[in-house]
Amino acid sequence: MEQQPIRVRFAPSPTGPFHIGGARSALFNWLLAKKLGGTFVLRIEDTDLVRSSRESEENIKEALHWLGLSWDEGIDVGGPYGPYRQTERFPIYKEYAEKLLASGQAYYCYCTDEELEAERQAKLAKGEMPIYSGKCRHLSEQEKAKLVAEGRKPTIRFHVPLDQQIVLQDLVRGLVSFESNGVGDFVIVKSDGIPVYNFAVVLDDSLMKITHVIRAEEHLSNTPRQIVLYQALGLPIPKFGHISLILGKDRTKMSKRHGATSVQQYKDLGYLPEAIDNFLALLGWAPSGEQEIFSLEEITKQFSMEHVAKNPAVFDIDKLNWINAHYIRQATSERVLELAWPHLVKAGYVDDDVTEDKRAWLVKVTTALKGYISYGAELADHMALFFEDEFTLETEEAKAVLQHESVPKVIQLFEEKLTALEVVDEAAVKGIMKSLTKELKLGGKYVYMPIRVALTGKMHGPELIEIIPLLGVERTLTRIKQTLAKYI
Ligand code: GLU
Repeated sequence: MEQQPIRVRFAPSPTGPFHIGGARSALFNWLLAKKLGGTFVLRIEDTDLVRSSRESEENIKEALHWLGLSWDEGIDVGGPYGPYRQTERFPIYKEYAEKLLASGQAYYCYCTDEELEAERQAKLAKGEMPIYSGKCRHLSEQEKAKLVAEGRKPTIRFHVPLDQQIVLQDLVRGLVSFESNGVGDFVIVKSDGIPVYNFAVVLDDSLMKITHVIRAEEHLSNTPRQIVLYQALGLPIPKFGHISLILGKDRTKMSKRHGATSVQQYKDLGYLPEAIDNFLALLGWAPSGEQEIFSLEEITKQFSMEHVAKNPAVFDIDKLNWINAHYIRQATSERVLELAWPHLVKAGYVDDDVTEDKRAWLVKVTTALKGYISYGAELADHMALFFEDEFTLETEEAKAVLQHESVPKVIQLFEEKLTALEVVDEAAVKGIMKSLTKELKLGGKYVYMPIRVALTGKMHGPELIEIIPLLGVERTLTRIKQTLAKYI
């Protein structure tokens, strides 16, 4: 028999900032599609009319593009099974709800929220499972007419068959089974005619010929409802894979308390998309070797659902920073500067009218600094070195460096040699530093350290031979004089 081509989908609800967990679900689906030569569909689940917004939808699309996760079918690009936005599919849901009503597998429920709550409480008080009793299933036509006359607007409930095992062979979690008696007749269409998620998702996945549903573990409890609907409609059931929750380092569910949770926040902080993809892939997928740095292409080659772990994934920001720092070092300085730009504007170091010369200088400064940063925003902190001519010494230890007896002659000779230079570049400055140690017969520490501290206020940082040409002779000497006047 010919193998059915795989079709996966990412089906976000556009109800707020695009969460990093959503991006991981999108990535895993995308990877599976690429790996197996399948189709990746983007569907928008916007049936929550109050919370959904086009702005949030735009935000999701932008983030997916940024992460390099383009879709083969779905909103914007179209495809044979559209429309791909649920609010444009209401007639389809209506047609299927009517089918279920006609076959007696669904029924109108006229209970009010208060009645339902009272029933729930009564069941709980008796120690019973608080599931709907199904009482509206037995209403006569006369009783229904009376309730309608009272002005009640019914919901449509699905009648869940009793005494059945609902069995799921989950691609991540293995065999999971549910008792149908614990599910209870659930609403599939609300009283305002809007279908609920569990109903719409089944119809969409089925009509869009989705073969694998890879989504977050929090949807596992919805799956029995979806399976019984597939069965009632006589539709083939896709394979499911529920990927683990993402926890913070304290092992509670990742939330705002743990720091940035949306893709946009990471983008704004100046993280690189390839680093985010790499990091997200490792949140659940465990490659066989020790390697931790992977391009999207390499991940695609190695990815398989068998290596997606069942245990929760822990969001370790230090690891993300480490991965991002790796990609920053590999990126061109122009790109890193671009990433950091809004932060440099905020710090008052640049504005959008910088001259070509200044931009070229900024690129060189970025080259000197990019080995020290984990993400773009940090470049602004490190750039202070090149913008803030007034500073205080960072520590007592730094002060002590300037107090050493050899400092005046080191500085004096350095000044002489620097002023005499015709071309001030790294090689020339390196030459000066070497000759200082030689002529003064001092260890490197006694030459480099006082100059560094007097020039930057700090004991560590980028190479002096890089900093000095970038600052220029005049600023270098003015700074040193200023510090010495203040501290010795
Ligand atoms: N719209 C649902 C969500 O964003 C999708 C769940 C699913 O993938 O089935 O959580």
